[in-house]
Amino acid sequence: MDEDTHSPEEPATGPVVCARCGTAAAGGTPPLTWLSSMEDGRLLHFCESCARLHIRAIESRLDSLWW
Ligand SMILES: [Zn+2]
Repeated sequence: MDEDTHSPEEPATGPVVCARCGTAAAGGTPPLTWLSSMEDGRLLHFCESCARLHIRAIESRLDSLWW
């Protein structure tokens, strides 16, 4: 009976690292410039430079889904 301590959105455990290049974010939370992407039920983070590359892949993927 301890459901109250369970928040719907559980914070990620451990340091936040870029899923692409492995750069660790300081402070344990991704900076605003980082991109968060839910893939296969997991929340992935991409640093600023990787986000630019990754967002193009996301957009092209969305395009194909929307069509
Ligand atoms: Zn990166």
